[in-house]
Amino acid sequence: MTTTRFAPSPTGYIHVGNLRTALMNYLIARKAGGTFILRIDDTDPERSKEEYVDAIKQDMEWLGLHWDKVERQSDRLDRYAEAADKLREMGRFYEAFETPTELDLKRKKQLNMGKPPVYDRAALNLSDAEKEALRAERGNGVWRFKLDHERIEWTDGILGDISIDAASVSDPVLIRGDGQVLYTIASVVDDTEMGVTDVVRGSDHVTNTATQIQIIEALGGNCPRFAHHSLLTGPQGEALSKRLGTLALRDLREQGVQPMALLSLMARLGSSDPVELRSDMAELIEGFDVNRFGAAPTKFDVQDLFPLTAKHLQSLPLVDVADAVADAGVPSELAAPFWAMARENITTLADLKGWWELCRDGAEPMVADEDREFIADAIALLPEGPFDGETWSIWTKAVKEATGRKGKDLFMPLRKALTGMERGPEMAALLPLMQVIRARG
Ligand code: GLU
Repeated sequence: MTTTRFAPSPTGYIHVGNLRTALMNYLIARKAGGTFILRIDDTDPERSKEEYVDAIKQDMEWLGLHWDKVERQSDRLDRYAEAADKLREMGRFYEAFETPTELDLKRKKQLNMGKPPVYDRAALNLSDAEKEALRAERGNGVWRFKLDHERIEWTDGILGDISIDAASVSDPVLIRGDGQVLYTIASVVDDTEMGVTDVVRGSDHVTNTATQIQIIEALGGNCPRFAHHSLLTGPQGEALSKRLGTLALRDLREQGVQPMALLSLMARLGSSDPVELRSDMAELIEGFDVNRFGAAPTKFDVQDLFPLTAKHLQSLPLVDVADAVADAGVPSELAAPFWAMARENITTLADLKGWWELCRDGAEPMVADEDREFIADAIALLPEGPFDGETWSIWTKAVKEATGRKGKDLFMPLRKALTGMERGPEMAALLPLMQVIRARG
């Protein structure tokens, strides 16, 4: 059965880059009728925070990315210790004692000699006595996985055929000197034991994947299918990594971005299919194919979310936005006509308030000197309230007859006088809502 997971580290709020990973894994699982696991990668006790775990869940719920199971790596430390023992018994695990400064020096030397900066495995030659001495001097060493120096190959769902020479990669550190288990092994143990069949993650993990394939094989597990999506860049192709902090999902939510707008964009951006606003999750699932994504960096422009949000809102019936309409101050008896008028004229729900204030309080009239008399005559002709959908046409017909004005000369000064704006909602729909005029009429 298809099983996927989204595996964030709870060290911060999740952003659009994380969302891409979450969504792809979610859609693969749902399309196949499989299982989607939310895995909290919290093996780092210092940087992992409970508040971020809660925030990640909230953000996922907001988006409707419901998970079937939550797993926490901090609950599974004994499983990782067991796997580590197994690797030790197999002779695939060795302790190394270099300090970060020493490693850095080695790297610099290698680079100076035009060699790739790969760990030289010096620790493999340490005798037991030497290790004992180093341990006494520096404390416990780190544990590195001894890669087999052969080519590591897989067919990536996005990148195609990949072949990496294991000799060009450092033996990965799987356990730190302080005993902290690192992601590389924890993830392998989880993926294997949880029956994960498909792993989609960012292309920054390609080298990890190569080493993880060897670890999975050493532990006797089955390799999932891997797909690595490209990293997001800004609209001009600039690195987004620094700005991702400002593209947290909660900030987008705060700015009024609608989940379907965000999901529709992220399910297609960087693929060969066009971005289309989808009306619900079922449509997104139906139209998703991870193999249609490309390897090139994907440009993301937060501004693209707003037209999609506007379009999505336009499609919604009142029941879906009733709370927001009420929060804007609209009395319930006016909610339906108000929404019918406003939905064509908003970008986010936050714009409702302004339209309601216009209806309730009116606007500073915009009247050109040459229109003053005309407007005064027109106002005098306003029919008695209450106004309805016909009022605008009855009124403007009367004004036309009385003043001889027609077309733009007739309508534009009236619109500007009533709304203080040159453009905006259909006046026929707006007029019955305009409490100020109604009160006057
Ligand atoms: N916790 C890892 C990360 O956030 C998970 C990577 C993976 O999907 O394997 O980068």
